[in-house]
Amino acid sequence: MTIKEIIKYLDDWAPKETAWQNDNVGIQVGRTNAKVKNLMLCLELTPEVITQAIEKNCNFIISHHPLIFYPIKKLDLDFDSNSKLIEKLLKRDITVFSAHTNLDFTKNGVSFILAQKLGLKRISFLKNLELNQFKISVFIPASHVEKVTNAIFSAGGGIIGEYSSCSFQSKGQGTFKGSDISNPSIGSRGNFEKVEEIKVEVLVDSWKLKSVINSMLAVHPYEEPAYDIYPLANKNLNYGAGAIGYFEKSLTVNETLNVISKKLKSNNLRFVGGSAKKIRKVAVCGGSGSDLIQEAINKGADAFITSDIKYHTFQSAHNKILLVDAGHYETEIPVIDEIQKRLLKLITKRENIKILKFIGSTNPINFYSKMRSHVN
Ligand SMILES: [Zn+2]
Repeated sequence: MTIKEIIKYLDDWAPKETAWQNDNVGIQVGRTNAKVKNLMLCLELTPEVITQAIEKNCNFIISHHPLIFYPIKKLDLDFDSNSKLIEKLLKRDITVFSAHTNLDFTKNGVSFILAQKLGLKRISFLKNLELNQFKISVFIPASHVEKVTNAIFSAGGGIIGEYSSCSFQSKGQGTFKGSDISNPSIGSRGNFEKVEEIKVEVLVDSWKLKSVINSMLAVHPYEEPAYDIYPLANKNLNYGAGAIGYFEKSLTVNETLNVISKKLKSNNLRFVGGSAKKIRKVAVCGGSGSDLIQEAINKGADAFITSDIKYHTFQSAHNKILLVDAGHYETEIPVIDEIQKRLLKLITKRENIKILKFIGSTNPINFYSKMRSHVN
């Protein structure tokens, strides 16, 4: 199996087009045509990750945080740590790929997995992505409806939430008159024709639009198929930021903090109390999710769990929502298990490729207490 094939799978799950516009997701360093030897998963690239990858004969690393985030102006191999990492990767022929905010925004991505880890049920997105869908309407002679709609569905059109092959079909009459040099598949040139046609309407994600249109055109019987494309203001049910769900039963604030601390192995929770004494409906966002606090309040969540929360943000959430900062690393690391699980399913044993998680922690943050100190 090639690196490219694995990237294709990851891109179908977490399309790069859904990433935050200033993000740098996808290939970071290396080639994609190579066959995968072994594969290593990590939250971010460090010298230790590369050392372990070399030891385990991995030529492909998938990291959540991009290795290259800001444009590189120079590769200073003596003084710049990122440059040194890139040098090492190139010398060892290791490819690095990153799925960052696109992995945050997909189903069973960073926030969904965080919610599952905390034991939440009935999980949905906290805030769906919007304005990234089109509706296409295609006019098809009745005889070819199945063929054309199948082509549209196979190319990824017609997906609404957990439903695929969604379309609306209405019967009508199409009319046309071909010019002297036309080549009509029904009727003859120069004649006014009336044909029973079906109007098929489907939703299409913006990044699939081109391939859906091309697939439709490839099997449509008309010389000049008629179709319309409309931009939509819909919420996209399949992609969004954060997640929201419910504990199976209400917990006290203390019990909630206990669950978070235990499940995320997070010993240093920072929090402010909200208005609810009992916690049932909980919103989460893996990584820096402060922007979503108001959304969590609007949706009636009793608690919001995320990281990188500032002092004044805590201050303004006080008495409104139980706001918990459980750590950036701690809220994101659970997704690595999900990537591993999915790739193990994709890559059959026959391939003899190991899907390894980096053993150790790449969390740069240490905690000090007078009682005990812990250094990563
Ligand atoms: Zn992050």
